[in-house]
Amino acid sequence: MYDVCIVGSGAGGGMAAYALTKAGANVVLLEAGPSFYASRDSKMLMPAYSSPRRGASTKTRPFGEFDACDGGWEIEGEPYTVAPGSKFLWWRARMLGGRTNHWGRISLRFGPRDFQGKTRDGLGDDWPIGYDDVAPYYDRVDRLIGLFGSHENLPNEPNGIFQPPPKPRCYELLVKKASDKLNVTCIPARLSILTQPLNGRAGCHYCGQCNRGCGVKANFSSPDVLIAPALATKRLTLMTNAMVREVTVGKDGLATGVSYIDKRTGEDKHVDARIVVLAASACETSRILLNSRSSLHPQGLANGSGTVGKYLTDTTGTDLAGFIPAMADHVPHNEDGVGGMHLYMPWWLDNSKLDFPRGYHIEVWGGLYAPSAGFMGGIERYPGGGGYGKQLKDDYRKYYGATIGFSGRGEMIPNDDSYLEIDPNVVDRWGIPVARFHWGWTDHEFNQVKHMHETFRALITEMGGQIFSPMPTKEQGYNISTGGQIIHELGGARMGNDSKSSVVNANCQAHECKNLFITDGAPFVSQADKNPTWTILALSWRTSDFIASQRKEGAL
Ligand SMILES: Cc1cc2nc3c(=O)[nH]c(=O)nc-3n(C[C@H](O)[C@H](O)[C@H](O)COP(=O)(O)OP(=O)(O)OC[C@H]3O[C@@H](n4cnc5c(N)ncnc54)[C@H](O)[C@@H]3O)c2cc1C
Ligand code: SF4
Repeated sequence: MYDVCIVGSGAGGGMAAYALTKAGANVVLLEAGPSFYASRDSKMLMPAYSSPRRGASTKTRPFGEFDACDGGWEIEGEPYTVAPGSKFLWWRARMLGGRTNHWGRISLRFGPRDFQGKTRDGLGDDWPIGYDDVAPYYDRVDRLIGLFGSHENLPNEPNGIFQPPPKPRCYELLVKKASDKLNVTCIPARLSILTQPLNGRAGCHYCGQCNRGCGVKANFSSPDVLIAPALATKRLTLMTNAMVREVTVGKDGLATGVSYIDKRTGEDKHVDARIVVLAASACETSRILLNSRSSLHPQGLANGSGTVGKYLTDTTGTDLAGFIPAMADHVPHNEDGVGGMHLYMPWWLDNSKLDFPRGYHIEVWGGLYAPSAGFMGGIERYPGGGGYGKQLKDDYRKYYGATIGFSGRGEMIPNDDSYLEIDPNVVDRWGIPVARFHWGWTDHEFNQVKHMHETFRALITEMGGQIFSPMPTKEQGYNISTGGQIIHELGGARMGNDSKSSVVNANCQAHECKNLFITDGAPFVSQADKNPTWTILALSWRTSDFIASQRKEGAL
């Protein structure tokens, strides 16, 4: 019998394991994938030429052979389905640390307005908590994990406890110049990468390979930064290759633990725990709840409201790149930096003057990243580019580093067409019923993405660049991403004060099962135009603190 059983070891599960073991609880953590620590297993400094694949993707490493994350859009034997007429992509990690092994590390706080969407424009719902409730936990996450950034005092982009940001690289200086000219706010990025040593971890040496995992722990991944210290307390039992099927309940309706499949033997097993914390990622947590059916909970656990799986959102996204002649034929120079952008553009406009209600931010890319398979694909798009032999090689040298791209990342509003349910006809290789997705964007999102394209075009033109593709049309949906494609799925077990319209309360505790908690993105009431992980970490710590205090009071 453990005090707490946590399912999933990514951002939400790793933080719960850290905070709960530090608070004295005896914790068991079940993770569907194998062990991985970037400090031990990363391919951070492996040159592409050392492999016959030159870094090209593999089936389980779709983002490249050296990428740190095992998983993908499809996992053998673990399908999901998509309802007719919908499109949805589900990126799943299967390893210790989940997606934190290769995430972009863009670490943004939600701002005060982000918790109050409905009050602002009547759309979606307000959260039952506000920025002030989460702020102390953002501060703690900043101090424990660390991030760089700058104090800008912007109204909805709260300052954090930042380490100094790295300087902009050459192409980023061009972006900054164009942004200033167009009055687009452009500030140092905020990434959870250490530019100075912190808590026994080294500062970054600017190899630019963050997606491969950091061998010196300078960037954040759950195993090295959260799970290792939790194990050091000797109060954490880690079970890898343990695929959780469902949360089990007793006669009183309370959780008694979880049943899982030991993937090495195929055996069905059970762990007993006084408290269960789900952190398997927003969609997987919803799936586990819906699959946890019993006579007491015929619609699935914590689903009396019928809202498990509902209010599912993803970030909106679209991209555009262009050739910047000023960057061609450059003098070779050192453009080393972190494995991510040094600058970004937070939302800078007032939606009340626009034809879409919520904002977006812009991520910047380009420069002299380390080449690998597929490098400079599309050379024929550059003036006179392409051909064979010497001319082709000359073109690669001339145009390498002369591309600048922008990715818009915006807020979607939850809608009735976007949700997941259990597919009644399909089970995975473990016999667990799979998730079936429904998805629909609305004009709120289409109009926002159109605006992204207009902005990107203005920026590239201002830099004297040549845009690679024509303006997408309304019929093309302005090239909006497919639902799930930006890999920021949130919702499915949202928080609220009313048990009739929400799954968990303001402490991420199930309304209908007081010893069941959720610490991944499932309780989010809304997206923001911010990447979600810093908020997942802060909320997970806050929920863990609540669990610890309830245990102390004997309430759990
Ligand atoms: C390429 C990429 C870039 C990203 N960039 C950013 C970024 O810059 N900023 C940002 O904020 N976010 C980013 N994200 C999103 C970020 O990774 C997620 O928000 C975050 O990891 C979510 O944490 P989580 O704990 O909910 O889920 P995960 O990190 O996915 O962890 C879930 C864990 O649960 C395990 N699991 C799943 N099902 C079961 C089961 N049934 N039984 C047992 N274990 C299970 C999984 O194996 C996994 O380890 C990015 C994601 C990707 C893929
Ligand atoms: S760029 Fe810095 S943080 Fe990223 S892998 Fe290299 S040393 Fe680590």
